[in-house]
Amino acid sequence: MTYRGRFAPSPTGHLHFGSLVAAVGSWLCARHAGGQWLLRMEDIDPPREVAGSAASILAALPAFGLVADAPTLFQSQRVAAYDAAFERLRAADQVFPCWCSRSDLAGADGMHRDGRCIAAPDPNRPPAWRLRVPDIEVDFVDALQGPQRQNLHESAGDFVIKRVEGLYSYQLACVVDDAFQGITDVVRGSDLLDSTARQIWLQRCLGLPTPAYRHLPLALDAEGRKLSKSDRACPVDPASPLPALRQALVFLQLPASGDTANVQDLLAQALVNFDPALLPQCSGHSVA
Ligand code: GLU
Repeated sequence: MTYRGRFAPSPTGHLHFGSLVAAVGSWLCARHAGGQWLLRMEDIDPPREVAGSAASILAALPAFGLVADAPTLFQSQRVAAYDAAFERLRAADQVFPCWCSRSDLAGADGMHRDGRCIAAPDPNRPPAWRLRVPDIEVDFVDALQGPQRQNLHESAGDFVIKRVEGLYSYQLACVVDDAFQGITDVVRGSDLLDSTARQIWLQRCLGLPTPAYRHLPLALDAEGRKLSKSDRACPVDPASPLPALRQALVFLQLPASGDTANVQDLLAQALVNFDPALLPQCSGHSVA
């Protein structure tokens, strides 16, 4: 099977250093494998979206030498596919409507378990929809972070796949689109390691294949906090891409010192002795 990787940013701000690391890491793994690298804009959450950021992220990536092998898939145009997946789950009685508020769930660790809704059904307002999660351990081996095991019943409970506003959750959209795009290898930041068991469980419920996973170290600030787009932290400058690209390569412990004036040479040089198994295995470290 041909390797297919992807970078799947959310349009919640300009491209920042943390997402550049994920983009570079996933691009290098795909090119090293002689595979394809695809883009997906995860624009399914209008309330969190920052106007103009999808276009700004997509315009920035080529400036860093990161050019996708197919047109970008926009999740905002994929609602029919999420509806179809949702209807499959509903027909199999794997989802249920939920009217619980945060305070209803306060006494249950904020979690919903055993397919039971604490609040009474309210015909006057739309429900959220949750996936019934049995008492099951999900095991997988992350290519960088090693063997993982999560009891979904304990850690996530019956998680929401369709929100009260009618918006689909990241977890559902992500698994539907990873399958649709034929993704064989997911390379992304370690902040999403925790989502992986939920995604694998959803893949099983929907009869979709499970890709291989490789979670890269997260870029942290000096205080050990995630550099986050939504904090507007560390945007990278596509007009002057070399410093941030060098810094992203150094962050991934790859060669970045060559005397070059263009991003293509710098990426080519990083690819020469690139070995995905030698990427840093920690879950995060601070930016030099
Ligand atoms: N859209 C997610 C983010 O920007 C990443 C999703 C993924 O790589 O699975 O954090």
